Amino acid sequence: MESHSTAMSQITCKFGGSSLADSDCFRAVQKIIQSSDERKYIVPSAPGKRRPDDKKITDLLYAWHGLLRQDLDASQPRGMIAARFEQLATELKIAFPVHDLLEEIAKEAVKYDTPDYMASRGEYLNGQLLAKLLGAVFVDPAECIKFDDEGLLDPVTYDLLGAKLKGDTRFVIPGFYGSMPDGRIRTFSRGGSDVTGAIVARASTSRLYENWTDVSGFLMADPRIVPGAKRIDEITYQELRELAYMGAQVLHDEAIFPVRDSGIPINIRNTKDPDNPGTMILPARESKDIICGVAGRSGFTMINIEKALMNKERGFGRRVLTVLEEHGVSFEHMPTGIDTISLIVRDEEIANHGPAVLKAIERTCQPDRVSLSPGLAIIATVGQGMAGHTGVAAKLTGALANASVNIRVIDQGSSENNIIVGVEDKDLDSAVRAIYSAFTE
Ligand code: ASP
Repeated sequence: MESHSTAMSQITCKFGGSSLADSDCFRAVQKIIQSSDERKYIVPSAPGKRRPDDKKITDLLYAWHGLLRQDLDASQPRGMIAARFEQLATELKIAFPVHDLLEEIAKEAVKYDTPDYMASRGEYLNGQLLAKLLGAVFVDPAECIKFDDEGLLDPVTYDLLGAKLKGDTRFVIPGFYGSMPDGRIRTFSRGGSDVTGAIVARASTSRLYENWTDVSGFLMADPRIVPGAKRIDEITYQELRELAYMGAQVLHDEAIFPVRDSGIPINIRNTKDPDNPGTMILPARESKDIICGVAGRSGFTMINIEKALMNKERGFGRRVLTVLEEHGVSFEHMPTGIDTISLIVRDEEIANHGPAVLKAIERTCQPDRVSLSPGLAIIATVGQGMAGHTGVAAKLTGALANASVNIRVIDQGSSENNIIVGVEDKDLDSAVRAIYSAFTE
């Protein structure tokens, strides 16, 4: 590597499992990395699926751990893992003692009740392979990504990791795991290499966090509903949170926090289409577009409560929410009227508690009427450009009216960057299409 790279001109690159599924993928990744000296901190996932019916290495490791714990024959997952890494090493022409490494892993894994150690080995082995291919320094996160006793990231991580990442060379830091105060390996939740990438970007003070995956960024709407939906060029962390909440998932939920705090942008890129600029996730954006995306999902129930003069009754809302809390039901939205409160909850939250919750509301709030209406879909239309812009709600509701979609409930947060509408399940797709067209045409 040339030696002119300076702090803040470097890039952290995370490569997902589908970008490292076979040796051709590894070669493509190598090319991407080596095309820029700035790409200095590399975070790999474990090898993912090569075909839809293939197995992910991480899933095979979980299966291996489960069989080991029950003293059952684990030769099948272990054999499949060995074959995958052997093939990779042979095709990449890298000397890699797969069988010895797996033997060591099998011995160590029996010491663990939890699958974390075993599950982390996909990233560990893949990281070693990639470091060899790139001639990069391998950094084991067990030594520098630290969790506290509650399993939360210990901020000491940033100093420990930062110290390891000094020097004018490339580093490979496997994703998905770190260690507990007693030294035992612990993983993030599934998909957690995204989080590692964000931590590495922050610890290394990278100017950019590239997250390489198999799609060219986020789309403005689900392409199964809106074929040919446009790519989102720029989105803020906040807008992304709102779209991701509705199920538009590309990035792990927790991956934005480490970089958001230090203002490092995330760029979602496609390994199969490296020239595509993808989506940039930024602290703030010029809001030339009114909306950045529309996402919806079904599976909600509305609790409707009516009581004359509710607005004058102190503590009414508190009593309603206490009932939910006591039944362990969390709510998503709470649109209110003068004499009505509606609570929108996920079906699975209310599933077994419906009648009990209604009874308790009747008892503690004495409403005129309380009922449940299932079959609700929620659509979030998200965009910072909405704030202070007149006519956005009119456009949205007009589009729904033209598509003959009845709005059962509508809610706009005070930050004015999100309008939530609730429609019948059956209207979900046509509503999303109508809103998308209204704001993009
Ligand atoms: N390999 C882990 C998983 O499958 C972590 C990751 O890929 O980010 O969940």
